[in-house]
Amino acid sequence: MREQSKLIAMKIIVDRDLCIGAATCVALAAKTFGLDEEGKAFILNEDTKTAKKSDIGTVVESDATDVMDVREMIIEGARSCPTFAIKLYEDDGSEIPL
Ligand code: SF4
Repeated sequence: MREQSKLIAMKIIVDRDLCIGAATCVALAAKTFGLDEEGKAFILNEDTKTAKKSDIGTVVESDATDVMDVREMIIEGARSCPTFAIKLYEDDGSEIPL
């Protein structure tokens, strides 16, 4: 079995304007993504409760932490989003292709 790796230094951004609440991200990475009472995705990090306006929309963002899913599952969760609402970035700022 391929070894899965945690990546602490990965940034996750969810554009809540694009999110339609399909919840496939939650199904694949339930320790990273959740749905709030508005049916929109958020990131399961106590420090990241507040959405903010940015150039790309209303976003929540967080660094991945070691209590979240492994890197591969966070990528799979992001990749599964039908509206491309999730973006992932390496520590050097480069976008992780989905
Ligand atoms: S998969 Fe995309 S549209 Fe569905 S809840 Fe997650 S971010 Fe929202």
